[in-house]
Amino acid sequence: MSETIRLSGLERHFERGETAVQALRGLDLTIQPGECVALVGPSGSGKSTLLNLLGGLDRPSTGELWLDGVPLHTAGEKERTDHRRQRVGFIFQSFNLLPRLTALENVAVPLMLAGVGRAEREARAAELLQQVGLGHRLDHYPSELSGGEQQRTAVARALIHHPALILADEPTGNLDSITGDEVMALLRDLNKKQHITLVVVTHDPDVAAYADRVVRLRDGQIAAIEGEYNPNGQVSVVEGGTAVFPNGNPGLRFSDIVQSAFNNLRRRVVRNFLTAAGVLIGIVTLVAMVSMGVGVQREVQRNFQTIGLENIFVSPKYQESGDGFDPFAEPDVVTPITPDLVTRIAALDGVASVQATLDLPNGIDLNMVWDGQEIPVRSSNSFGMGRSGGPFNPSEILAGHGFEDNNVQGLIISDGLADELLTAGQTYDDLIGQSVKLVVRLPRGETNEFGSAIVGIRQSFSGRLIDLGLAEREAIKAWWFGQPDILQSEGYDGLTVRAADLSQVGQLADIIQSYNLETQTLEAILEAANDVLSLMQALLGSVGGLALLVAALGVANTMMMAIYERTREIGVLKALGATRREIRAMFTVEAGLIGLIGGFFGLILGTLLGRLVDWIAHRYLLNEGVTGVGQLSVVPLWLALGSLAFAALIGIVAGLYPASRAAKLDPVTALRHE
Ligand code: ADP
Ligand code: MG
Repeated sequence: MSETIRLSGLERHFERGETAVQALRGLDLTIQPGECVALVGPSGSGKSTLLNLLGGLDRPSTGELWLDGVPLHTAGEKERTDHRRQRVGFIFQSFNLLPRLTALENVAVPLMLAGVGRAEREARAAELLQQVGLGHRLDHYPSELSGGEQQRTAVARALIHHPALILADEPTGNLDSITGDEVMALLRDLNKKQHITLVVVTHDPDVAAYADRVVRLRDGQIAAIEGEYNPNGQVSVVEGGTAVFPNGNPGLRFSDIVQSAFNNLRRRVVRNFLTAAGVLIGIVTLVAMVSMGVGVQREVQRNFQTIGLENIFVSPKYQESGDGFDPFAEPDVVTPITPDLVTRIAALDGVASVQATLDLPNGIDLNMVWDGQEIPVRSSNSFGMGRSGGPFNPSEILAGHGFEDNNVQGLIISDGLADELLTAGQTYDDLIGQSVKLVVRLPRGETNEFGSAIVGIRQSFSGRLIDLGLAEREAIKAWWFGQPDILQSEGYDGLTVRAADLSQVGQLADIIQSYNLETQTLEAILEAANDVLSLMQALLGSVGGLALLVAALGVANTMMMAIYERTREIGVLKALGATRREIRAMFTVEAGLIGLIGGFFGLILGTLLGRLVDWIAHRYLLNEGVTGVGQLSVVPLWLALGSLAFAALIGIVAGLYPASRAAKLDPVTALRHE
């Protein structure tokens, strides 16, 4: 494959503010394949500009630039990148090795960009380094190499993909003359033996002496061409271009992108860790909050399930009484729960049982007369309600019976009180059926007596406790409030309606509501509790979200700094054939990794924090005598994976803009960056 380079009328102008700089003004030149050309001329004469055009780093303003019959002057971004990647090897004055890579890895970069696997590309790199006399320096970093060694490494890097054309911009400029001679001899040798076309920019006459022809530039024009190229009639075949890439140059592998992102993150450990810490804080908050929310929600659900969801609690609606000026006025009942209404509700389809409740007035002065003695007693507040809202647990009844339906009267006394009433030799059963008198005293001193009889004895922790039947309660309330028909006017204080089937709860509640009554089901309470929890989660989640927003700004900022610091490296990568997409991917992945690292540690810390809060809450609950509470902070798999993905996503999103800035950097400008 012959790689004739043909320039005709080639011009390159730069806009610099108002004035246009004419870097190249109409070059006509042909370079034969395998030729070695030295470009010489004073500083600013356009040597580097020409080299960049030949390498496809830059585009001419006008004129034509043909490379083996392919027009480079009309080539787009992609074609020029392919050109660099497959046919060109660059050598720079300041070596431009990547500082975090060893000599071996640096040499392998062009193959890495072409998607060649690590083992293969490093084997080839080692071989080449051997050839340039650096077999003993494979694992050295650029900072550990002398200038000559660095440039020889760079020569090896320029050769590894078997380019047809090597472009060297003052390759000996930073070297002493002996080392410079060595490098030039090496290049010339390669040029001759491998028939690689070599264009060297220099202003060292000794260097120019190696060349077949010397092209003198002055003010962007060719001032003179000295010498003549004589290929000795022999045009050897250059092994080059796509032949080197058996798999057809698939481009940078994702694993290599991740690897180099890690490598780059290690360069600024503290800075990147601080940035990741921002993400960490946000994720900690999110994970701790959401895990508590999930755990508490599960616990609430579990608890509600154990206490019977089939109950409907019915209470009357109240409205302000007529006299709005009396702050102590009792509100009026809208629809009293009269015994008739209770009967109607009990007869509804799907109702298993109905239990009415009637509350005695607060602070009522109640005494039981026994053997002519008044014993002060306390009444359980609601009729018929055992713990947790249901009727008495049968196992609590020690003698007699409990209140099984609404048509009950009588008195159930606590075992403590029963013990006081017993005389020697009597058992609890002897008390059942005994009549007693209850004395009620109004605050202003009036008293009244009510007759009742003991129907049952139950277990209780409080000493002198009695449960009064509905009939007794009605009588006491009627007298207390001076309303003989109190059940008609005020009605019961509440009803517990038990549905025969859970599925009927909602429907029954609707019917009862249509009687102008309030209903409450545990389902509704459960929903309300869930709503409150969700709201809490949302609020606390947005705190975490805010923290993450700030973290995202941190990531973006760090990435902008990284790009600024590595501008020159980006230029080098582009010169070696990295595409925009690859550069963008490298920085995006790097930003994503910062997020992921923050997310990973945030997940761990958030989980631990949740556990800590859990532990404290349990200690507190135990102190309060609450046992049997399950784990309150739960990190389900979806939360763990979700938070990691979210953290990575935040990094990626934050890195999008910086990465596209990096991708769009002009390689020539980037290479000039100090
Ligand atoms: P040499 O390599 O021969 O020293 P260059 O090719 O680097 O010269 O530059 C030729 C001229 O073009 C100089 O005047 C330089 O200032 C100008 N020039 C080169 N690149 C740019 C650019 N990107 N923007 C503006 N002017 C530029
Ligand atoms: Mg220059």
